[in-house]
Amino acid sequence: SDPLLDVRGLSLDFGSPRGRIHALRNVSLEVGAGRVVGIVGESGCGKSTLAYSIIGLLAANAEVVGGEIVFSGRNLIGLPDSEMRALRGREMSMIFQDPMTALNPVQTIGTQMLAIQYRDAVPTREKRKRAVEMLVKVGIPDPESRLKAYPHQFSGGMRQRICIAMALLVNPSLLIADEPTTALDATLEVQIVELLKDLQKDMGCSILFVSHHLGTVAELCDDVVVMYAGEVVERGSVRDIFHTPSHPYTEALLECDPGRIREKTRELPTIPGDVPNLIDVPDGCIFRSRCPKAFDRCVREAPAPRRVSGGHEASCHLLDELAEAAP
Ligand code: SF4
Ligand code: MG
Repeated sequence: SDPLLDVRGLSLDFGSPRGRIHALRNVSLEVGAGRVVGIVGESGCGKSTLAYSIIGLLAANAEVVGGEIVFSGRNLIGLPDSEMRALRGREMSMIFQDPMTALNPVQTIGTQMLAIQYRDAVPTREKRKRAVEMLVKVGIPDPESRLKAYPHQFSGGMRQRICIAMALLVNPSLLIADEPTTALDATLEVQIVELLKDLQKDMGCSILFVSHHLGTVAELCDDVVVMYAGEVVERGSVRDIFHTPSHPYTEALLECDPGRIREKTRELPTIPGDVPNLIDVPDGCIFRSRCPKAFDRCVREAPAPRRVSGGHEASCHLLDELAEAAP
């Protein structure tokens, strides 16, 4: 069956005084119904831009220059704002790195949780009941009285739980999470990831989880998309990516992470070398300035995605070399 979300060859530029920044180039990924898909990569690789483009919350200087974002069978590129807004209120919702992005500081949690259900033609007391139930699900103690509280009266971890509750109140088929645990300490991070896991099982929605933390992705996700400098360099199941990484960038990320998937490193490791300039994108492989395995072909030609096995794909010329060397 068709995936819930099918991003096909998406390319996106940002206008800047120095020139056009080619922030996403030919990005493809799929999110199946009920799947949890992680997008990993260093900061600036385009993972947040990709998330924001899917939910239609891009800055005014962004321009999609190619590709499609097909969600539930329709292309979202060029959809009128009103339709995108309707979609965000029902079928898709998002949680952010900073919970205060989503919360109104001068309204009570209760007011905001009622407002988010404005499309539902049910009595207010029913909406209030749903809000309380959702707060229970995300682990807010004493939810009845907490509805009267303002965002600043909660801790950072509790605020993120409230944002998750609000995002799930519309019963979305896709939840997009942009590094929702980055601002939290390690203990709270584990709790939020556990919570998302439980809620996903309970509600059955798909999650697109943007992260620079490999351990979290291994813990939460079914599938992984690895991005580098605006391109998808590898994608596959968690098992594919963590056990048989097939792109030198993915290998480098995992090698620098000593405990592999167990290690609770907060940041992606540092890999030597500079990320290329995305105004003047160089020819050849985008990773070649930092790739320990680069060879002459990598300078001339950009590698196309190549199937490793099943749904596992990587974009590296070495896969061709291996295939040629095989008997
Ligand atoms: Fe490295 Fe070449 Fe593969 Fe790019 S194509 S990742 S430069 S070996
Ligand atoms: Mg980001």
